[in-house]
Amino acid sequence: MVPFIFLIFALFAFTELHTNTKNDPVERIHRNILTLDTHVDTPMGMVRGFDVGIRNDEGLGGGQLDFPRMKEGGLDAAFFAVFVRQRERNPETYTEAYENMINTFSVIHREVAKYNEMAGIALNPNDAYQLKEEGMVAVFIGLENGFSLEYKIERVQEVYDLGARYIGLSHTSNNQISDSSTDGGGSEHNGLSDFGKQVVKEMNRIGMLIDVSHISDEAFWDVLEISEHPVVATHSNARAICDHPRNLTDEMVIALAERGGVVQITFLPSYVKTIEQKPEVLAARRAVREKYNNFRNLDDETMAEGWAAWQRINEEYPVKLPTVSDFVDHIDHIVELVGIDYVGIGSDFDGGGILEDCRDVSEMKNITRELLARGYSEEDIEKIWSGNFFRVFNEVIATSSN
Ligand SMILES: [Zn+2]
Repeated sequence: MVPFIFLIFALFAFTELHTNTKNDPVERIHRNILTLDTHVDTPMGMVRGFDVGIRNDEGLGGGQLDFPRMKEGGLDAAFFAVFVRQRERNPETYTEAYENMINTFSVIHREVAKYNEMAGIALNPNDAYQLKEEGMVAVFIGLENGFSLEYKIERVQEVYDLGARYIGLSHTSNNQISDSSTDGGGSEHNGLSDFGKQVVKEMNRIGMLIDVSHISDEAFWDVLEISEHPVVATHSNARAICDHPRNLTDEMVIALAERGGVVQITFLPSYVKTIEQKPEVLAARRAVREKYNNFRNLDDETMAEGWAAWQRINEEYPVKLPTVSDFVDHIDHIVELVGIDYVGIGSDFDGGGILEDCRDVSEMKNITRELLARGYSEEDIEKIWSGNFFRVFNEVIATSSN
């Protein structure tokens, strides 16, 4: 028999724990506001059979995001990226990219429908608020890499009709639309191509968000000049804090903010902080990059093999990762530069985004905890978690022809 005194103690402990959770400002904020992550690559796993409706374990290679862990981490909404792998540009690879893109869209719709008691597709901010009220998570869709549009301008409307609400114009290599910030061959169009300029205008007409993450600096300035609407960077950081071509210079952040846009800060370690790694780690990584052609122009099987080799290095030599605090340094920097209204969060989970103390979506509240510790108010935190991005989103919707 359990001693009575123990029962009293257990009851007291439970009540105490319960009250603590209830009064914890982090918990309260996550209940009150809508939290949005503007870039996750989880669909890359979903097309290979990753089950987004069950709780997977990040430590066992189980991906970084699924619906149960979104609930745990207090993340209400996420943009699922339809990632388009790019190889050399010829009619066959364009067709292949298009087919893969269509397949990814249908996998997302199928899986969300399968778990319709947990999640729903969102096409605008209101849908996300509605889903939260019903206790469900919201899945937005974005296209990462306009390679799959080929030279067919009507495909912009096609991907919109499939649910995409932003298009990232390029990925790590130049494409037919835009130069990339990380193409080893340098500039090809000196920014946007003529077709790229047409794509921007068509996206303005339809009312889609233009994502400037990944494109070259020249292409960024072209987009800003051409677009009639504010634009977004769905997963990019501040170059002043971490000098990487994928990040935005202060001049770019200021120009983006002046036009009402928003920068969504990302977890990808090499964009957050330059951390010295041991020489043997660097050598092992270099060997894998060389063997797998810098992860460019690979077929699916070789890419999976290369990614597995990369993961093995990470397991063999535990790498030092940036922290939530390093990540929030980027938010602080943007806020100091242009104010609280132009910054948000786009983790890049399942696409390389990871922080020491936010390794998967179940740990998202650590971001809120750090923001609170640095003196951000609940109102500020709401803007960072969704308010700023949704302001741009609603503005783009209001001026669209759809
Ligand atoms: Zn990306």
